[in-house]
Amino acid sequence: MISDARAFDDGVMIVGAGIAGSLLALVLGRKGHRVTVFDPQRRPAQVFRNEKLGHEQIALLTKLGVLDCFKAGCWPAPGHPHAYPEDARPSLVDCGAHHHVWLSAVRDAWPANVRFVEDVVARVETSPQLQTIETRSGDRFTDRLVVLASGRMTQLNEDLGITRRTLSSGHSVCLGFSIKPERPIPAEVIEAAHGSGLGYVSIFPMPGETRVNVFSYRALTDPWTRRMSRDPLGALAELAPATAKLLHGATVVRRCEVRGTDLYETEGHMQPGLLLIGDAFHAPCPATGTGMLRILNDIDVLVGRHLDDWMATPGMGGGKILGFYTDPLKRNLDSASLRSSYRNRGRVVGRGPRWGIYRWLRRIKTMIRPPVQTAASTS
Ligand SMILES: Cc1cc2nc3c(=O)[nH]c(=O)nc-3n(C[C@H](O)[C@H](O)[C@H](O)COP(=O)(O)OP(=O)(O)OC[C@H]3O[C@@H](n4cnc5c(N)ncnc54)[C@H](O)[C@@H]3O)c2cc1C
Repeated sequence: MISDARAFDDGVMIVGAGIAGSLLALVLGRKGHRVTVFDPQRRPAQVFRNEKLGHEQIALLTKLGVLDCFKAGCWPAPGHPHAYPEDARPSLVDCGAHHHVWLSAVRDAWPANVRFVEDVVARVETSPQLQTIETRSGDRFTDRLVVLASGRMTQLNEDLGITRRTLSSGHSVCLGFSIKPERPIPAEVIEAAHGSGLGYVSIFPMPGETRVNVFSYRALTDPWTRRMSRDPLGALAELAPATAKLLHGATVVRRCEVRGTDLYETEGHMQPGLLLIGDAFHAPCPATGTGMLRILNDIDVLVGRHLDDWMATPGMGGGKILGFYTDPLKRNLDSASLRSSYRNRGRVVGRGPRWGIYRWLRRIKTMIRPPVQTAASTS
């Protein structure tokens, strides 16, 4: 029984205003769709997530017409206390911004047809015609399509019969802290030494600080990981001397945050009236830099290839939903992202002859030709 007075049948309800939900709302809103977004917080809190864009992400953000929101975070306007000097502004791929700064800019750009409901979604009911959302405060909303963009939270999944299958538990750990360097350090991605258990270290400027993000395959409970929380520069010097040399004399100005990642996939999600995007659907290893790319691709595929057709005919049956999940553009990127999550880990800590031979060949190659530090293009 739908008790809410505002019952529509041509709009989209989005659960979660992280980067997936907020961007989708912006793109749909600008196309003239009526959108309702639910999240417990109107102003996003600071969270450790993607902080830097690669070339492919920039290309998709440009295609979706939303790159300006990201530029504004990376390049504060002249007069801002952390604006880069006119003649020393890094290129977009060589700098970054805190995730919540991007998120705020995206939400601030929502047009009037995007309605925000500051509440937790407590229940979702789906059907081939209309979907209903009930918030924790007891308000009910109904519309044609629900997009679950609620990240790694799973409380809604159970009621909907959606389960998660863990593919790789404790797959990787991201560690991020900020420094004030002795002298400006340009963006660099430094491949970690063999045997360190680390993937790479990404150093890049952010407004007012220099960010150091470490992608590691050591466990969350590893004593080195714990030391990073207390003394990131000291701990980094133990395993990544090349990086430590570069950071010599720096002061830590933002404590080291540590986040572990499990790889998982979702089952039971093919339901009429319901779509899952972003981390709600599947989380790749952050070290691959494909988390954001997959979100942008999902939005591009949904809005550019499916949604107009779906809205042109009544209902939101399973056949429409299936069309999104089986779209080759989506499937190919999702599979490639998962493959690179496994491959990146295998290269560093994988067991068995394949990875043993790989690392042995790499060591020989490194002895012949030492690695060159590269200008950063991944975060
Ligand atoms: C440490 C770290 C580093 C990363 N680095 C990179 C990187 O370098 N490159 C890259 O491409 N990707 C990276 N990623 C991955 C990328 O950041 C994530 O894939 C992406 O941010 C996920 O966005 P999301 O919107 O799906 O989820 P989230 O950001 O988790 O947002 C989910 C939102 O849903 C809301 N919500 C949850 N439940 C409810 C409910 N019941 N009702 C209402 N609202 C709800 C939450 O409040 C939240 O706002 C990284 C991830 C992490 C954790």
